[in-house]
Amino acid sequence: MYDIIIVGAGTAGLSAAIYGVRAGKSVLVLEANTYGGQIINTPEIENYPGIKNTSGFEFATALYEQATGLGAQVEFEEVRSVENHGNVKNVITGKETYEARSVILAAGAKNRHLGLPHEEEWLGKGISYCATCDGAFFKGKDTAVMGGGNTALEDALFLSNYCNKVYLIHRRDQFRGDSKSVALLEEKENVEFVLNATISALLGTDHVEGVEVADKITGEHRSIPVDGLFIAIGQTPQNQVFSGLVALDESGYVIAGEDCKTNTAGIFAAGDGRTKTVRQLTTAASDGAVAALAACAYCDSL
Ligand code: NAP
Repeated sequence: MYDIIIVGAGTAGLSAAIYGVRAGKSVLVLEANTYGGQIINTPEIENYPGIKNTSGFEFATALYEQATGLGAQVEFEEVRSVENHGNVKNVITGKETYEARSVILAAGAKNRHLGLPHEEEWLGKGISYCATCDGAFFKGKDTAVMGGGNTALEDALFLSNYCNKVYLIHRRDQFRGDSKSVALLEEKENVEFVLNATISALLGTDHVEGVEVADKITGEHRSIPVDGLFIAIGQTPQNQVFSGLVALDESGYVIAGEDCKTNTAGIFAAGDGRTKTVRQLTTAASDGAVAALAACAYCDSL
């Protein structure tokens, strides 16, 4: 019987593990793939307080070694379900059934991809899913943002402060995001809206040099030279297996506030899979600490 089982070895999960073991609890982390979560694919990080510059791989490896060095156990097994039996929770993987007093759900979310050729290959070579993380690398350059939700609008606003030119490409002529942000963008001289349009191809030899855009009304194709493409077409939380365990919102995020408590006693949610407005490395780490300390208090109360 573990005190805390954490589902997911991303930034939130491993941060929770550090806080759990340092509080003297037995901690098991279960991870379906490799440790690190989304950040492992980020070539360069320069917005994590206290670390001037590092790669996602280095950051994730340091976090993993820190958690395991302090005594957290990590098993690479996919969690198939979590059962709530009151004071005991069963966490079932393809190999084992583990028992815990508390569970932290930190399975994260995946950025939705356009599915274009070279999209995966050119990640960090002009393709990014996070303007807040990577925007500063495009100072004085031309960029494009794909999407029409609040993330795309905020990304375009953010980039307009750094970039020479920002093309905001959206598949409809109405934005899903807030009209206030649209109005702010309309005032920006270096932002151009490309509406009713989809990206039909990424242009370049071994990195992004432009995008080919298809007009959905006229059917015409045109090339827009850009150094970077920020894809902001939504995220998919990895919470399907928790749907019967805790309340999820209509988009599939675990409903929990800043205290990381779900509607099920002893089950906590941390990181990008939780309902929240800011999904960043810092907020994932912060959630990990909050969820772990809440789980410790829950265990002590049993
Ligand atoms: P979102 O609201 O789901 O918007 C995704 C956008 O991408 C939509 O405009 C959608 O087009 C477009 N899209 C989806 N699939 C596409 C595809 N295959 N090809 C081209 N375009 C595609 O996602 P989000 O912007 O990441 O926001 C997620 C949630 O976080 C939202 O509730 C949002 O309000 C919230 N958020 C809040 C803030 C804030 O409050 N400051 C900031 C960021 C995000 P359609 O419109 O045509 O469907």
